[in-house]
Amino acid sequence: MKLRDLWFDPSHLYIGGTWRPAAGGDTIGVTDPSTGEEITRIARGLPEDVDAAVAAAHEAFAGEWGALDAAERGRLMMRLSELVKARGDTLAMLECLDVGKPLNQCHGDVKQLARYLEFYAGAADKLHGETIPYQRGYTVMTLREPHGVTGHIVPWNYPMQIVGRSIGASLAAGNACVLKPAEDASLSSLALASLVEEAGFPKGAYNVVTGFGGEVGAALSEHPGLHHVSFTGSVGVGRMIQTAAAKNVVPVTLELGGKSPHIVFDDVDLDDALPTLVGACMQAAGQTCSAASRVLVQRGVYEEVVRRMAAIYETMVAGPAPDNHNLGPLVSAKQKQTVEGYIAKGGDLTIAARGKIADTAPKGGFYVRPTLFRDVDPDHPLAQEEIFGPVQVVIPFEDEADAIRIANGTEYGLVAGIWTRDGGRQMRLARKLDVGQVFVNNYGAGGGVELPFGGVGKSGHGREKGFEALYAFTRLKTIVLRHGD
Ligand code: ADP
Repeated sequence: MKLRDLWFDPSHLYIGGTWRPAAGGDTIGVTDPSTGEEITRIARGLPEDVDAAVAAAHEAFAGEWGALDAAERGRLMMRLSELVKARGDTLAMLECLDVGKPLNQCHGDVKQLARYLEFYAGAADKLHGETIPYQRGYTVMTLREPHGVTGHIVPWNYPMQIVGRSIGASLAAGNACVLKPAEDASLSSLALASLVEEAGFPKGAYNVVTGFGGEVGAALSEHPGLHHVSFTGSVGVGRMIQTAAAKNVVPVTLELGGKSPHIVFDDVDLDDALPTLVGACMQAAGQTCSAASRVLVQRGVYEEVVRRMAAIYETMVAGPAPDNHNLGPLVSAKQKQTVEGYIAKGGDLTIAARGKIADTAPKGGFYVRPTLFRDVDPDHPLAQEEIFGPVQVVIPFEDEADAIRIANGTEYGLVAGIWTRDGGRQMRLARKLDVGQVFVNNYGAGGGVELPFGGVGKSGHGREKGFEALYAFTRLKTIVLRHGD
């Protein structure tokens, strides 16, 4: 199918409040992962376009956008949140066709985008500094000021949510933004630009340059006009972004994925834990940074857990995203190939169960059968590397010490889940796990707009979401005033 009658032109960039083709005039095809067919084209931005977007953001920051009161910024963002909700059905379908995520999950993403904008809208005029007790005759205060112009490079797995958390916090703090969405998932960022326009934001506060990572992404991360860069994506690209930012001596926030462990003890209610655990890996077909990709199970319940998880897998179906199966296709042919490569790497490992591909799934779509491996050695690549697909590994453990050693035994450290009724054990483990977030007897907390999120180790540094993200998008100024007694 072709996308027709969109209310914005996806083959244009959004720079300084105007829509224009890329400097080179080229476009990139957009493929529907459910069918493998091209549905529309987006602009192939070039470094010149990045220059223009950064210049427009500077102008906005020095001009009308930068001059707005915080309360007025908040009102604009609240209006944007309302517009997102009003266009929710269309945004969800657009995302569904662009990234191949089941439509019901895309509706969830729309809600989260609206909620991020609402949360940060409300926070815009509550970003206080402090007064600091100092010597007699002095008053000292801190101000939280915006950096100026911020760059945002986002991936294809949760475009609306990641754009929401990133530009939501940055705009609320008063920065002007330049956004580079993933080439596989740009439509919702462009749709949002049209809503930014409709909400009445001053020109240049939000700019979108679509294109390839090696062209637009690299030019943006290296741009000397940026004051902060935030990136969500792979470790390899994250390293390049940090290197580029280091050359300009600007701060970066990096969220680089994970290999999140779930630790299941033998005292837990398996009816409660297991559907959540499997769902936490199958959401977005496993293409989630916080996917529950490793399940560590205490020996006493190991066989029962494997048997029950296998039974869930056998009911799972991957099919066309608009039809709301358990999972959709992967985002691209390349990603399907990568994930199938990992499954092949499983070699002589035991597959406990596999789901199915729907009979209705078009042959050209990028479907992969959900796959559960059991008895996986904690050092095996399947238990160490981020697969980013519908693949989960189960690993047995003996006791708390063993569980902590295995859980902390990868280069990543994003999120962990603990499943036990023992309160002391919950807290002991939560404190000993090398991760940025720990969930006890639950997982994901419905997106957790309010909850600081980010990793340790190769999962990155800095925190998105909640007030921590707002602080990251400000620079702190200390003012020391001598007034005498
Ligand atoms: P994924 O594995 O999720 O595709 P990537 O790290 O490759 O993760 O991509 C995340 C984002 O980074 C995308 O918007 C992509 O276009 C961008 N990107 C890819 N390569 C580069 C690069 N060399 N410099 C800056 N951004 C890049």
